[in-house]
This record gives sequence, C-alpha cells and structure tokens, in this order.
Amino acid sequence: MRARPVESHTAYLSLGSNMGDAFGNCRRALERLAADSALRVTARSRVYRTAPVDYAAQQWFINQVVRVETGLAPAALLARLQSIERQLGRSRPAVRFGPRVIDLDILLYDALVLEGPALSLPHPRMHRRRFVLQPLCDIDPDLVHPVLGQTARALLAQLDAGTQEVCEHPCCG
Ligand code: ADP
Ligand code: MG
Repeated sequence: MRARPVESHTAYLSLGSNMGDAFGNCRRALERLAADSALRVTARSRVYRTAPVDYAAQQWFINQVVRVETGLAPAALLARLQSIERQLGRSRPAVRFGPRVIDLDILLYDALVLEGPALSLPHPRMHRRRFVLQPLCDIDPDLVHPVLGQTARALLAQLDAGTQEVCEHPCCG
C-alpha cells in the first residue's frame, strides 16, 4: 500500500536580526530551516540592510524572506521558528520592536486568515513594512494578500517613498 502523501502548505517567513553578527544570525537561521526535515525551503530573497522602523534608536537590521513548503500546521510551524530563535540565543522578553538576535515570523500561510492570541495570519504588520515587502517581491511579486486583496508589488508601491530605507546587502544570500 502506498503511503498517503503529506499535505503540503506554502508559507512565507521573515528573518531579521540587528544584534551581534546580524548577517551571520540570519544565515544560521536559514541553515536551521533548511536542515529541518519538516520544511523545504523553495525560494529565498536577496538579503537586505534595513533601517529600524518601530523603535528607531537601534542598529540597522538584516532582513530576508524565504518561502517554504511544509506539512506542519501553523502553530507547529511557529513553534519550530521559536525553537530556532532560542537556539540562536534570543531571549524574551526584550523591548517590543527593539534589538533582537533573531526574529522569525510567519508572514503568510497559504491564504489562511487567522487571528489568535499567539498567531495572526497574515502577519498583521507585513503590508506596512518595506523590509518585508521588498524581499517578498524578490520571490513572488504577484502574491495576493488574502485580506487586502492586493499583490505584494502593489502594497510595496503604496508605501511612502523615502521612508523605511532598504538596501541590498553586498553579499547576496
Ligand atoms: P515581533 O512582533 O516584533 O515579531 P516577537 O517576535 O517578540 O515580536 O513576537 C511576539 C509574539 O507575536 C510571539 O510570541 C507570537 O506568539 C506572536 N505572533 C503573532 N502572529 C505571529 C506571526 N504571524 N509570526 C510570528 N509571531 C507571531
Ligand atoms: Mg517575531
């Protein structure tokens, strides 16, 4: 008898760091995602250096977005991400939106819309953040936000020009 195929979901994950070796922290997080047998990394954006947004008095960030295929349910996927955050030395609580060794967020999980105490999907701030939308557009500019009904490209174009500086990191990952 053939094994039943595992149901596969597409999720977009955001990686960010602005403490210590921020580039290395993101690279290590990506390595751990790639090594996780419950996930398959199917696309990765360029790596960006980005100005801090919500809490300005801190170092610039390194940001990247990756696409994964997974059989994990959303809560289990978030638990994996939080486990990788802990392995890389992130401790909570820190200042909300403040410096962090590594931040791993789920941006989108299929077209799922969910609002819970521990997990909201799509990520509630993704459509306002250039450091998310710019790398997301490297992967899938035509991806439609399931609540706003607009593509990643259109959402990016709506952000105020000149705010939220984002530049490509010279060592493209
Ligand atoms: P930030 O909002 O800056 O990412 P944290 O990483 O400290 O801050 O996350 C705070 C909480 O946000 C987490 O404990 C998690 O339960 C919750 N959360 C809600 N939605 C999401 C999501 N889509 N991805 C990641 N975390 C989420
Ligand atoms: Mg987070």
